[in-house]
Amino acid sequence: MTNQPNTIETKAELLYGKKDNQIVHISEVDSGLECDCFCPACNSPLIARKGTIRTHHFAHHQGTDSQACVETALHLFAKQVLMEHKKVRLPEDQLSAEAIDHHGKKHLKTLLINAEKIEFTNVDAEVFRAGYRSDITAYPYENQNLDIEICVSHKVDLDKQEKAQRSHACMMEIDLSALEKDLSQKQIIQAVLYDAPRHWISNPLHRALEKQLQAEVEKLVFEANEEQPQKIESAPLTPKKPDNHMLLGFKVGHGYSPRYQKNFELCKLYTSRQVVSTSTRNLTCSHSGGFELEEFDLDENCIGKLEHLSFPIEVKLIMGSKLHGRKFVPVVLDLKTM
Ligand SMILES: [Zn+2]
Repeated sequence: MTNQPNTIETKAELLYGKKDNQIVHISEVDSGLECDCFCPACNSPLIARKGTIRTHHFAHHQGTDSQACVETALHLFAKQVLMEHKKVRLPEDQLSAEAIDHHGKKHLKTLLINAEKIEFTNVDAEVFRAGYRSDITAYPYENQNLDIEICVSHKVDLDKQEKAQRSHACMMEIDLSALEKDLSQKQIIQAVLYDAPRHWISNPLHRALEKQLQAEVEKLVFEANEEQPQKIESAPLTPKKPDNHMLLGFKVGHGYSPRYQKNFELCKLYTSRQVVSTSTRNLTCSHSGGFELEEFDLDENCIGKLEHLSFPIEVKLIMGSKLHGRKFVPVVLDLKTM
């Protein structure tokens, strides 16, 4: 046998009745049928149960107390609160815009709009406009109405949301669905006006601000796209000191020459030099510019020094000579980096 705890389902009680066309709280009326109240939803007579054990509440004199009546009564009471008090806390809002530039960097701008408390002098219930009926329409701004929707169990549906947004209406929703069941009348009024969660369904002013943010972000992206990636300055091919050389690279190897039928060694160093534009007896140099490659024989002893360099690099070459065949040729014996 399972030992199940007794669970008592706590249902919300009917706390509001209708009396002389006003929604009244249970605390405001006499006990019993003397309360002279009707259900705000189904209009049947109510009894005020103000005993000592249970929370004070209304009950239908005949028939059953349905949850629908409780929800409708709270909805009507919340509307009445706004109509009477003519003030409300607006929802806060966070606006943002973002875009990504060509370099893959994200640009983001956000704007937090604080929850402002406003007052209004004019207010209507059930205004039909742009294809939908508002719970309450207040007129706090010039040329801009504020629709206030109250959610007890049903949120503003998609159709109404779209109609409000399409007609550039200002619409907010106050969410009473999580309201605690045993709040006093004063606490419920405080919740409706200020404390209960609320959010924007449609706000053309905020949409305009968001467009502005988007424009600012797109300007940042445009500027970032215009920026060229930093140019890597190529190392100049002219050494800073005229006696030095700008070393471009080297090549070392060995091979066999079928023509001379013998092995050979290759050990070369390459540097840049200004193009030599001198004319000779057989050549008249007419145009020149830039650099040309100069090649040196290299002594094997300095190969180790070359392996860890990154080229081009300015070096001082220590020259010597070696016998090649029957004559002496210049050779790089050593080099010093700057
Ligand atoms: Zn009812």
